[in-house]
Amino acid sequence: MRDDVLRWLRERGLRATGQRIAILETLGSAGRPLTAREIHALVQAAHPTISLDTVYRTLATLAAAGVVGQINLQNREAARFELQGDVHHHHAVCLGCGTSYCLPECAPPLDRVLPGAVPGFRVVGHAFEVYGYCPRCDREQLSRRARPDGDGREA
Ligand SMILES: [Zn+2]
Ligand SMILES: [Zn+2]
Ligand SMILES: [Zn+2]
Repeated sequence: MRDDVLRWLRERGLRATGQRIAILETLGSAGRPLTAREIHALVQAAHPTISLDTVYRTLATLAAAGVVGQINLQNREAARFELQGDVHHHHAVCLGCGTSYCLPECAPPLDRVLPGAVPGFRVVGHAFEVYGYCPRCDREQLSRRARPDGDGREA
């Protein structure tokens, strides 16, 4: 784990600071996407003085470099972060329950779309997310809509 973390940072030209390593190792051992607050609480065990703001800033740096993936791009408070390491990919997010699903690949590779569309534009990253309803929430939506005096659609 530590070797991979150091390699990912090195490959992206990022300094291997204690806080970056701690955040990446926390995400790696969690095995599920975490909010910045959850990460902050876990990282504090080893770095008692680290602030939530520092966690947000570090996550932004790691996400921009592609080591970390952000889920729920439109809402900073509800955003979750996961370790992506070597496996760049995007997510589908359920608007009902917030569950996120890893999409298998980035196709078409979005970094290759833009240079042709805007000549001279230097791409350093991209964000992409799919929104919808998981099967369970979709059934709830449909049954709510079918009820004559239900509260109708919410989205
Ligand atoms: Zn759902
Ligand atoms: Zn994922
Ligand atoms: Zn992509």
